Amino acid sequence: MIKMRFPGGVKKALTLSYDDGCYDDIRLMELMDRYGIKGTFNISSGLYRPEGTQPEGPWPRLTRNEALKHYKEHGVEVAVHGYVHRDFTRLTDAELCYEISADRAALEKDYGVVVRGAAYPYGSYNDRAVEALRANGIKYCRTVGTREDFMLPQDWLRLHATAHHANPRLLELTREFLELETDEPRLFYLWGHTPEFRRDGNWQVIEDFMRLVSEHKDELWLATNIDICEYHMAFMALERSVSPDSRLIYNPTAKEVWMASGGWVTEGEPFSVKPGCTIKY
Ligand SMILES: [Zn+2]
Repeated sequence: MIKMRFPGGVKKALTLSYDDGCYDDIRLMELMDRYGIKGTFNISSGLYRPEGTQPEGPWPRLTRNEALKHYKEHGVEVAVHGYVHRDFTRLTDAELCYEISADRAALEKDYGVVVRGAAYPYGSYNDRAVEALRANGIKYCRTVGTREDFMLPQDWLRLHATAHHANPRLLELTREFLELETDEPRLFYLWGHTPEFRRDGNWQVIEDFMRLVSEHKDELWLATNIDICEYHMAFMALERSVSPDSRLIYNPTAKEVWMASGGWVTEGEPFSVKPGCTIKY
């Protein structure tokens, strides 16, 4: 039995995403850099704060120039959140495509990257929204459903998080994840909005979370949403010989993919297949 491992052979990955392109994202990114955490920022690029105004009120957004400077400087993933944050389930097909594609196009033009990720505005989704995302080339989209578990998503276009940062069990769940003895790949996914830290006076919570995670970083793959999504897709795209005698694995993708072979309970050392290569295990 072949079991996926993350890059370097580790079994656990951790990521986060924060929505709305808010001014307080800057402080979060500084903390992420300090503790080596990677993540994704979902931006409604039709709703930047006007240039030359101050970040005031309970939910200040970044201006386009501030956003460009800070998201680029910190090397985070930028992803779609609806061009003007309209509820995907309340739009015509044409409006829905525009919300996705106009946001994607604006981000691609500004950031010089091909954007493939998204989060649902208001967490609101249905089958039609999922199909529109697929048709517009989006590979994953996060809901606001939280599972309090560490399973990899079955469906990346209906991606549920492990927890919101205000979950009173956040640190408990984090410890549970870090201490988990597992044979299968596991994912911890945190989400939220950074103005909530200002409103709730709980920046300490996220710093405690990050410090705890960073103490275990040798056992973790700290990555952005799209890194993990596309790595999982690369694993799923591996081709394997059919007979149990042959034990060949071919990697047709452009990523080195890690795995371990074992039985239901036993497991071997992790190994990898380089892009375009075939190995016998
Ligand atoms: Zn939002």
